Amino acid sequence: MQAETTKEQLSFQAEAKQLLKLMIHSLYSNKEIFLRELISNASDAADKLRFEALTDAALYESDSDLNIRVSYDVEEQTITISDNGIGMSRQEVIDHIGTIAKSGTREFFNSLSGDQVKDAHLIGQFGVGFYSAFIIADKVTLLTRRAGLTAEHGVRWESNGEGDYTLETVVKPTRGTEIILHLRKDENEFLNGMRIRTIIRKYSDHITLPILMKKEEWSQEEKKNEITDEDETINQANALWARPKNEITAEQYDEFYKHVAHDFEPPLAYLHARVEGKQEYTQLLYIPARAPFDLFDREHRRGIKLYVQRVFIMDDAEKLLPNYLRFVRGVIDSNNLPLNVSREILQESKDIESIRAGIVKKVLGLIEELSKNEDDDGKERFRTFYREFGQVLKEGVGEDYANRERIAKLLRFVTTQSDTEEPTVSLETYLQRMKEGQEKIYYVTADSLKAAKNSPHLEVFVRKASKCYCYPIVLTSGW
Ligand code: ADP
Repeated sequence: MQAETTKEQLSFQAEAKQLLKLMIHSLYSNKEIFLRELISNASDAADKLRFEALTDAALYESDSDLNIRVSYDVEEQTITISDNGIGMSRQEVIDHIGTIAKSGTREFFNSLSGDQVKDAHLIGQFGVGFYSAFIIADKVTLLTRRAGLTAEHGVRWESNGEGDYTLETVVKPTRGTEIILHLRKDENEFLNGMRIRTIIRKYSDHITLPILMKKEEWSQEEKKNEITDEDETINQANALWARPKNEITAEQYDEFYKHVAHDFEPPLAYLHARVEGKQEYTQLLYIPARAPFDLFDREHRRGIKLYVQRVFIMDDAEKLLPNYLRFVRGVIDSNNLPLNVSREILQESKDIESIRAGIVKKVLGLIEELSKNEDDDGKERFRTFYREFGQVLKEGVGEDYANRERIAKLLRFVTTQSDTEEPTVSLETYLQRMKEGQEKIYYVTADSLKAAKNSPHLEVFVRKASKCYCYPIVLTSGW
């Protein structure tokens, strides 16, 4: 294939411009996360390379030591993040980097509230990771070459984040991606080795591959730190889920969640367990604190990442979760699945079925735990869970025959005796407070609580209920 050499100027879509502006504005208060986002992408790129190389070892181009490098240049006012992962072809750069407005953008914009904190969370979930670079940079240069393509198929992308970007074919001898951030004048505080190291340890310690920086040494003559030629690994660089639980801090669990779930907010709950027996696997699963804006868009799910013996196999391994638990995020690392497992194999696999049954059991257990927590904080967490995901969980009663009883116990309803519009009454509570002699439970279903309350059927039942001293009528509302 002939390499294209022209420099092109292209534009983001209209929504992308808007999104960028909004993002810079709302994430500004936590601007150091740009590094977390770029390192997270670099780590994903390494995972993808490792996976593709399972069937095509030549992709390593005799450099199989995967790592991420971070450097800075005070004179040039730049920070550079580079990886030797999968890289991108020209088309991939256009599709992935030139396109931030993905499907669901309109719904996304509609869901924005104007409240900076809330919008920042939503933006995080929308997945604009790469663009967080523009929070501190007024120009970003990306150099990349996809593994397997020759050096002259390198791509140089550059943008000032204002709507246009340029694209050029260049020679790039090494595969992978290099991102150069040209810092805004007032962001010089980041041109500091200590500061960068602190940010990496804070947010990216869990990244499985080494994050390298050049060591710095104090120079007595210059009275400042001098950058040496020696590499230093900044993070712990091992798979977080493979570490013993008592060696992982709550912050590390949270940061790992943000990486796997592409979320900006800590999770609501998590479980970390090693399963032994016929199927051996480790599960580190999280329940987010907020539903993604596309929760009901069945095409768009980001489920569990599947690893086999620490090798990344696939994102969104939908076979590992039933639909009604599609909000769960995290990692499954199997010890006995074959490394060449594909989506097709997953469809058929009995092993996967048993892992999936194990996951469901554990997740339902976690939700049960949440529901039983009696202190104020615990109650609030279950309320949050139910507000965000209750409606999805409800699907489980129809979808998962084996677990329907368990799921049903977790459901909450509004009754005509409720003093709140929130569904807080479980079937168990309802039964406990039922009047003696009550034999029937009437219920109404509707799209919303308001519609249920206004249902013409309800009036008849309320009258009937009071006559026979039945207790309240259950309303199943929209949420
Ligand atoms: P997200 O990571 O949430 O998908 P981003 O805007 O951060 O969103 O990145 C968009 C896409 O660009 C990624 O999904 C990936 O395909 C590609 N990409 C970003 N950074 C890299 C990288 N360092 N190497 C290879 N591909 C990358």
